[in-house]
Amino acid sequence: MDDRFQAQDRFAAGAQYIGGRLRAGTSGRTQNVVDPATGTTVYSYELASTADVDDAVAAARAAFPGWAALTPGERSDAMHRFAAVLAERAEEIAHAESLQCGKPVKLTTEFDVPGTVDNTAFFAGAARHLEGRAAAEYSGDHTSYVRREPIGVVGSIAPWNYPLQMAAWKVLPAIAAGNTIVLKPAEITPLTSLLFAEAATEAGIPDGVFNVVSGSGKDVGEHLVGHPDVVMTSFTGSTAVGRRVAEIATASVKRLHLELGGKAPFVVFDDADLAAAVNGAVAGALINTGQDCTAATRAYVQRPLFDAFVRETAALMETVRVGDPFAPGTDLGPLVSHAHRDRVAGFVERARAYATVVTGGEAPGGDLKDGAYYLPTLITGAAQDSEIVRTEVFGPVLVVLPFDTDDEGIALANDTPFGLAASAWTRDVFRANRASREIKAGCVWVNDHIPIISEMPHGGYKASGFGKDMSAYSFDEYTQIKHVMYDNTAVVRKDWHRTIFGDR
Ligand code: NAD
Repeated sequence: MDDRFQAQDRFAAGAQYIGGRLRAGTSGRTQNVVDPATGTTVYSYELASTADVDDAVAAARAAFPGWAALTPGERSDAMHRFAAVLAERAEEIAHAESLQCGKPVKLTTEFDVPGTVDNTAFFAGAARHLEGRAAAEYSGDHTSYVRREPIGVVGSIAPWNYPLQMAAWKVLPAIAAGNTIVLKPAEITPLTSLLFAEAATEAGIPDGVFNVVSGSGKDVGEHLVGHPDVVMTSFTGSTAVGRRVAEIATASVKRLHLELGGKAPFVVFDDADLAAAVNGAVAGALINTGQDCTAATRAYVQRPLFDAFVRETAALMETVRVGDPFAPGTDLGPLVSHAHRDRVAGFVERARAYATVVTGGEAPGGDLKDGAYYLPTLITGAAQDSEIVRTEVFGPVLVVLPFDTDDEGIALANDTPFGLAASAWTRDVFRANRASREIKAGCVWVNDHIPIISEMPHGGYKASGFGKDMSAYSFDEYTQIKHVMYDNTAVVRKDWHRTIFGDR
């Protein structure tokens, strides 16, 4: 036996976390959590039913008045303890994340978990700093001020690519602002959402503030979105499912926050530091085995650098060590599942008909043959309107295309339905400034691609969604603003009453 996370023992009670305790789902349907590195089942659990969702929403509703009534300082204290508990459990959480997703432990221990501890600490502090305009006598006769109030029970749905971080991005601003929440993780990756919820309880966050329902998207997800006692839906996932979620949420006039797909351009101008761009492209395309909504997927390289960029990027990709996520030297783990690996391979196979696969384009054999692995892949020669350039592949696949003028490079970067993230590579400050101004995306990096930070917002333009995760901007999603206006005159018949009473 090894020391990997023992999910079946740890979550023997079930994969639902409702009212501060673990329990089994009641749908009668079993879901397996599979280690994608080996194809072995590491946990089987009973999926949530819609009745379990009702229980979770009831628990969140019951917890709301008490949690919302705490002072910001009291909520902040609880969240600082939450951050401390997460830091204490960092190794266990990182291992669980690596096991269910196939992420290298290097990534989970250096990125996923510390990022979440930092987010938690950030929102613990931010809970005491909700912003609004100064109270003042704007009309002359009244004192006006703004209250920023929590909205109630939030229903959140998260994807499988960063299960812990996506849970954190939804839960932390919501509860920091005084809301309570029911989170539905992707059914294939529930483990770290459960550990996250347990840590909240251990930190003293009251039962029912943070609940988890592990269930299918179609039944449990849709029931949660449409639930009459859920006042807001916050969804991260694909644009296709986001559309469906939006339909249901809109029908019941709910607040909606959508973080959807991406197809990030990586624009290399001819004065760029080529070595920096090559390193940035490989890291930016392969992060999390390419299963990152902001991953570099379309590199547009100005003609003078194109051949060297392709040659050096392909060569660097070939040095990336693909292997067992638990081996300390591994750079790249498998994709999240065999089904997803086959989907990624399908995109590349279809692209062979119209483009050139320069490196990769296959699953490795040998010791890795049972895992959902796929080699880092670089493709050239694809047309701008081809599937591999337009559709989100969500795997370790980078397409490289040439451009001639700056106008063309920026136009190609913007020629996509998505608008989540982009990068521009240049040493010319005017080009950098133009690209960051003109590229339509929620984040533009200059001479880097991927870093995120708790203090700054993350969110899409266009079909990548709307609303912001992280940063104080996320409170705009998770609070409602009330204008309170006091009359200061104590006059019975006020000036403006002339509109009703005439000049009498
Ligand atoms: P997905 O859309 O298939 O699933 C996301 C979640 O929605 C899962 O929990 C799933 O169970 C649930 N779901 C599925 N059908 C549903 C329905 N009919 N009603 C309600 N919920 C439903 O996405 P995925 O494959 O898990 O994740 C990958 C996608 O997520 C990619 O498109 C990626 O770009 C996107 N993503 C976006 C961001 C961002 O910040 N914009 C971050 C991470 C991932």
